[in-house]
Amino acid sequence: MSHLLAQRQGRRTYHCHTGVCSGGGWKSFKLQTRFPSGTVCYLCFAPYGAPFNHEVPPAGSRYKGELCDFPHVLKELAYIIYQHQDVRNTVFARLAHPAPVTTASYWRFISRRRPGGLLGLYEVIAAYLDSRENVA
Ligand SMILES: [Zn+2]
Repeated sequence: MSHLLAQRQGRRTYHCHTGVCSGGGWKSFKLQTRFPSGTVCYLCFAPYGAPFNHEVPPAGSRYKGELCDFPHVLKELAYIIYQHQDVRNTVFARLAHPAPVTTASYWRFISRRRPGGLLGLYEVIAAYLDSRENVA
């Protein structure tokens, strides 16, 4: 099992090299962000549903990331969006929502679903991608 875990955690698609994803702020973001049960892997931030088909931890188990193939991918992006204030302001202006001023208020936004919306995490990522493709 430990060999399998090491092998899985060695596979990465994207990893931030700027140093933003290090230090106390990143650690607390990593540890505190949680999603409604059975929706999103807290390690990579990919949804459990199609098309990712991320393995879902059995109900009632304490999931420590052993089913995660690509730790941190969208998690790092989500954190970088928060850390760059101009990017954060652009994203939240697009979402017509006040930009969060603390990590805690940010992870509250991304872990909830606005009425009729996606999970906040995916609203943030979609708005970020949109802002890069369609510069206002
Ligand atoms: Zn995962």
